[in-house]
Amino acid sequence: MYHKYDAVVVGAGGAGLMAALQLVGKANVACITKLYPSRSHTGAAQGGICAALGNTEEDHWEWHMFDTVKGGDYLTDQDAAEVLARDAVERIIEMEHMGLPFNRTPEGKIDQRRFGGHTRNYGEGPVRRSCFAADRTGHMILQTLYQQGIKENVTFYNEFHVMDLLINNGRCVGVTAMEVKTGELHTFHTKAVIFATGGYGRAWRVTSNAHACTGDGMAVAYRAGIPLMDMEMYQFHPTGLYRIGILLSEAARGEGGILRNGNGERFCERYAPTLKDLAPRDMVSRFIAQEIREGRGAGPNKDFVYLHVDHLGKEVIDSKLPDITDFARTYLHVEPYTEGVPIQPTAHYAMGGIPTNIDGEVILDEKSTVLPGCYAAGEVACVSVHGANRLGTNSLVDLVVFGKRAGLKAAEYVQKNDWESLPAHHETRSNELLGFVNAGANDTRRTEIAGDIRKELQNKMQDWVSIVRNDTSLNNMMTKLSELRERYGRLRLQDTGNKFNTERLEALELGALLECAEATTKGALERKESRGAQYRDDYENRDDVNFLAHTMAYRAENGGVKELRYKPVVITRFQPKERKY
Ligand SMILES: Cc1cc2nc3c(=O)[nH]c(=O)nc-3n(C[C@H](O)[C@H](O)[C@H](O)COP(=O)(O)OP(=O)(O)OC[C@H]3O[C@@H](n4cnc5c(N)ncnc54)[C@H](O)[C@@H]3O)c2cc1C
Repeated sequence: MYHKYDAVVVGAGGAGLMAALQLVGKANVACITKLYPSRSHTGAAQGGICAALGNTEEDHWEWHMFDTVKGGDYLTDQDAAEVLARDAVERIIEMEHMGLPFNRTPEGKIDQRRFGGHTRNYGEGPVRRSCFAADRTGHMILQTLYQQGIKENVTFYNEFHVMDLLINNGRCVGVTAMEVKTGELHTFHTKAVIFATGGYGRAWRVTSNAHACTGDGMAVAYRAGIPLMDMEMYQFHPTGLYRIGILLSEAARGEGGILRNGNGERFCERYAPTLKDLAPRDMVSRFIAQEIREGRGAGPNKDFVYLHVDHLGKEVIDSKLPDITDFARTYLHVEPYTEGVPIQPTAHYAMGGIPTNIDGEVILDEKSTVLPGCYAAGEVACVSVHGANRLGTNSLVDLVVFGKRAGLKAAEYVQKNDWESLPAHHETRSNELLGFVNAGANDTRRTEIAGDIRKELQNKMQDWVSIVRNDTSLNNMMTKLSELRERYGRLRLQDTGNKFNTERLEALELGALLECAEATTKGALERKESRGAQYRDDYENRDDVNFLAHTMAYRAENGGVKELRYKPVVITRFQPKERKY
């Protein structure tokens, strides 16, 4: 089926909804989403969204910008960090006016709390910068933005799985999508596409991410010739529920929670004397890994540590951390009022993704050449505002700051530009992919089940492309990935029906995960240094001479990474320094 819209937003999380809201009234816009909008992963975000409002103590956007750059281990593009820190303040007020129910101070201002890596006066000590709605901030943001979308009559195509990006004469002209209910292929002809499809945490076994976080948007762009940037920079959040990975927000430590090892020691103070448990995530995850490696973990296998909030008292726990403490009760049967909660680091957030400039325009190379009509925002995008490590609460603010900028830029573009036709045979690639996935029922050479390949992928990524990496582990993963790609080529569906075929969906999602995992592993292998989330025990130091640069991975026609190129980091105010906390 054929549809025509001035602009199409792919994804209805925080970034997609914010972008779509900028287009209403200026362009005929549709929002295509594989999930019902309010099921997007943004709704799972817990701890907060930061802005230097200074409501409870002195704060300035320049301090926020500095923390973002230093937190990102100086891989952050500083023009982007400046935009983030400045615009954050306006976006929070804008959402407050939309009706977002933030927690309040006694005098009625938006309340703020501490989060890792956010400091006063360029690193002197923690600052209260994160605005929040208990520990369900993302849920409130998502509901608030979706309500606005309904109010403004945004057209939603719910449960449509986008499969391909269409490019003609060097311009982006549309997408194809499979309607999940019927299995039918739809073509959306458009002047502008905005990707807002979120992350790919499902490439790992222990993850905080929802089942739908499978990197589809990154894979679609990558297959269409767009590079993926800084994919090796994948964040492990320090505090996931032991073995399960469900997140216990950093807000727990922001409110005064602490980590203790198997001997009961508050180990973070040994590694980060100033910020202690509130050091940035890459570091705290590494501290935990080191405690465990050196035999100071807890439990029979000494493979976890404890998060304690019991000393905070029932009132703080119930008013500020109700959901996450319930998760601990429900899933691990521990009582946070009185005991520590077993935790381990969990695969959480993609700093990398589809490269864009500060207006959300997708770029194609190290010279920042723009692909006209193509935009990306949110976790799928790499602006790069988070560099090698994102600070807590900086993602939600990234969604609304850069979602808005991408939406505004796309609105301007569709008003100025004429229609470009669709390329010939625009459905071929999607039909081939669908045909490949659908085939197999009668083909006896095809024996592989998607779930088996996915499990293997997740287990090996967990072992080899984790908090600590090296040449051996990464090479092992590259070999494993070519084996998994070959097996994927022999995929067989057991369900060959067209209606709500979730097995087919999972097979398509697995294809995307494999693309993302390979770009991640290859980027990590070739980056022979340690920086932020990329920690290598065979190259333990940061190397600014050779690697103060963004990795851009290009895909080969038949799959796999064809080449890596490097793009210089934008440095404006802060020269790279050693990171101490
Ligand atoms: C448990 C958890 C807690 C978090 N807590 C915080 C926090 O407190 N503060 C903070 O700043 N950050 C937090 N984060 C990070 C932050 O929530 C995410 O990075 C952010 O919400 C991603 O938003 P998004 O709009 O980019 O994508 P998502 O919210 O993930 O939305 C993706 C959208 O894309 C659509 N989509 C995907 N693939 C396709 C496809 N093939 N076709 C069509 N549509 C598609 C989906 O339907 C969905 O609507 C947390 C993350 C997790 C997992």
